[in-house]
Amino acid sequence: MSATITRRGCPITALDVRTYRIPTADPHESDGTAVWDATTLVLVELHAGGQTGLGYTYADTAAAAVIHDELRPVLDGADALETGKRFADMQTAIRNMGRDGIASMAISAVDIALWDLRGKICDVPVCTMLGVARDAVPVYGSGGFTSYSLEELREQLGGWVKAGIPRVKMKVGRDAHADVERVRNAREAIGDAELFVDANGAYSRKEAMHFAEAFARYGVTWFEEPVYHQDFEGLREVRERTPAGMEVSVGEYGYGLYHFWRMLQAQTADCLQADATRCGGFSGLLAVDGLCQAAMMPLSTHCAPYVHLHAALACKMLRHSEYFFDHVRIERMFFDGTSDPIDGALEADTSRPGIGLELRRADAARYER
Ligand SMILES: [Mg+2]
Repeated sequence: MSATITRRGCPITALDVRTYRIPTADPHESDGTAVWDATTLVLVELHAGGQTGLGYTYADTAAAAVIHDELRPVLDGADALETGKRFADMQTAIRNMGRDGIASMAISAVDIALWDLRGKICDVPVCTMLGVARDAVPVYGSGGFTSYSLEELREQLGGWVKAGIPRVKMKVGRDAHADVERVRNAREAIGDAELFVDANGAYSRKEAMHFAEAFARYGVTWFEEPVYHQDFEGLREVRERTPAGMEVSVGEYGYGLYHFWRMLQAQTADCLQADATRCGGFSGLLAVDGLCQAAMMPLSTHCAPYVHLHAALACKMLRHSEYFFDHVRIERMFFDGTSDPIDGALEADTSRPGIGLELRRADAARYER
């Protein structure tokens, strides 16, 4: 152990925040409700005890400004080991700007950096610090953008199955006339593997019920955000009417614990999703896992697979993590410490302290804003 921990703790001596904009693999990508040509990553590095902890979120550059202007003052000189106090201080710091959205993404990146830093100072992996609940994290391949041709769709989803990932997800909802044919092609390409669809809130309630029946004929078992994510009544209505064997999922836009609590109370989902880069970092994700334990609800993590890994290993209700094409590509380019799924699951390299990721500075610098 190289860090010094005194009775006064281990004060944070510096915070660096940087923003990167990474163009998509194709000129553009799309899902049921959005089109994008780049992904923005906001990265935080916190320094204490001779160690550096890193965390990040996929958010607008506005999150970097919140980190620099609002969070840095309450972190500067504070004890890096007291992750609970730092979480509370950050909540107070952003009170007047609103807890959801950008502010929560900013807190999430810093909270993850705090956990990574604490792991490095104590020279243990974060999963060990949190309490390992499973040996590996099952993943599902996720992409299948609506901007893909049928051939590209088949190649991507089929490729994941060939690589040993037995469940894949595709986007639907941009062109209702094309959706069933796209799902039929996906089923042909993946054989018996599990097939998930994500509408990103594109359908009306009636459309969602119609497409649930149509997709069921091709063995779709997961229908994500069939209607707008805040239409809790609609989500419940669709969930209650989907064919047996098809689950409805929602949760990627959950920022605060109260929102997850309300989603559970409204019976919106058969499997709740949560994203540690939005919902308050590992502190937020573990709290959601606690809610899921009380509700006997399975939990699936959304996007950013490599930053989720250590926390996901500690989530008692975890079913799987999303192995999202764009983020896998970026994280493997930006960080040492990523590895391929083995038999469809990610394992942590416990010889590395913290979250086990190291920034490849030269590779990342090309995309810095
Ligand atoms: Mg989604």
